[in-house]
Amino acid sequence: MFSKNQIVPVTIEDISDTGEGIGHVDGFTLFVSRAVPGDTVRARILKAKKTYAIAKAEEILTPAPGRVTPECPVAGSCGGCQLSYLSYESQLALKQKKVEDCIRRIGGFADVSVQPIIGMSEPRAYRNKGQFPVGTANGAKEPVLGFYAGHSHRIVPTKSCGMLWPGHEAILAAVSEYLAASGARPYDEETGRGLVRHVLMRKGFATGEIVVCLVINGTAIPAAETLWERLSKIPGVVGLCLNENREKTNVILGKRLIPLFGKASVTDCIGDVRFEISPMAFYQVNPVQTKVLYDTALAYAGLTGTETVWDLYCGIGTISLFLAKAAKKVYGVEIVPEAIENAKENARTNGIANAEFYVGAAEEVFPRLVKENPDIGADVIVVDPPRKGCDEKLLATMLAMAPSRIVYVSCDPATLARDLKVLCAGGYRIDCVQPVDQFPGSVHVETCCRLSKQG
Ligand code: SAH
Repeated sequence: MFSKNQIVPVTIEDISDTGEGIGHVDGFTLFVSRAVPGDTVRARILKAKKTYAIAKAEEILTPAPGRVTPECPVAGSCGGCQLSYLSYESQLALKQKKVEDCIRRIGGFADVSVQPIIGMSEPRAYRNKGQFPVGTANGAKEPVLGFYAGHSHRIVPTKSCGMLWPGHEAILAAVSEYLAASGARPYDEETGRGLVRHVLMRKGFATGEIVVCLVINGTAIPAAETLWERLSKIPGVVGLCLNENREKTNVILGKRLIPLFGKASVTDCIGDVRFEISPMAFYQVNPVQTKVLYDTALAYAGLTGTETVWDLYCGIGTISLFLAKAAKKVYGVEIVPEAIENAKENARTNGIANAEFYVGAAEEVFPRLVKENPDIGADVIVVDPPRKGCDEKLLATMLAMAPSRIVYVSCDPATLARDLKVLCAGGYRIDCVQPVDQFPGSVHVETCCRLSKQG
């Protein structure tokens, strides 16, 4: 058993899903922040539990191959970009290994080879979305904007982020000035009091349009016009809206969007398809790599124009519409109503008449539609679920529909491997596994996988 503040030398063997280096000492697992696989560090124990401990690297005894000094001034205190201690090549190698390990260990696929990960040529300033918590820091009453520190809701004040598009600093500055001047109180997670919880901003890289959204514990902000006056002078800003979230929760967005000024959604293009994107809807954060990912999904779908395609967990219909031109019919299913509104509008504005969209949980809507329309068919099924992967009921329906091909787009290789096991036990074979680095700096990795029906 360790004690708090004890210093232990440890070699980091792996990395957790939240970016801590993992090492073992005397049968205990240590989760060490600011340390990456290959490092040997002196770790200070911050919290000791029965079988594991949380620690922080105080000194690097032997650096991992590929260890670099992060460029970011808040590296180590901000909870994002856990891999900023590694060169980009080493980050990619780590992600490649993560996907391979999951496929082998969790999926049990000893013979499946994983394609080399596709990285970015310029792995910074790639993000089209920023979300900054608003709170107070160091006992002061003044609102601060920033990022959460790792594993906590302590705000690390931030004026800019190297992963976001250049120019976003002006928005943060405008909101900070507004908060200080307007008297709008930051939300306090302890008491549930205060108004402003988060500042969200999203930019359509193809159009330059930016929409700012304040998530608030209420329905209105004081002196909204003064904020809009400041924001609307910033190049690209086309709208300001509010999102009402009164719940005591870690979930950032509430259910209600309140448009205030200008547009309530951002327009962007992927390839030659145009999209409207509500602040409420999921949209891939890295436009350059999204194109790579969707091109891979399109190639894996192997469409000839005669197929009925299902795009489950379709968001605003991005993959559906990307595939629609090459298919006979596409059905999209998604749980967020605003996203489906966008999807329908996006189909219309792109003149795509062979895509239909349904709101609801994929695991409920898909089996229901199949039951109500026995001839509906499925030649290709695309799934792109959140990190927890596909629901068991959905996997069962997919198997029952027996499509020729399944394209599985995943943001978590562990749940991907788990689900692949189910699909392969149900008669499918893995043809290709392609990791794509959508999130340079972070531990996350996206994977596109193609399965085909055997026999
Ligand atoms: N394919 C889209 C979205 C992928 S993200 C894109 O590339 O942009 C995963 C999506 O699944 C999110 O839009 C989320 O709202 C949605 N989702 C989460 N749980 C769901 C469920 N049970 N049924 C349907 N959609 C769900």
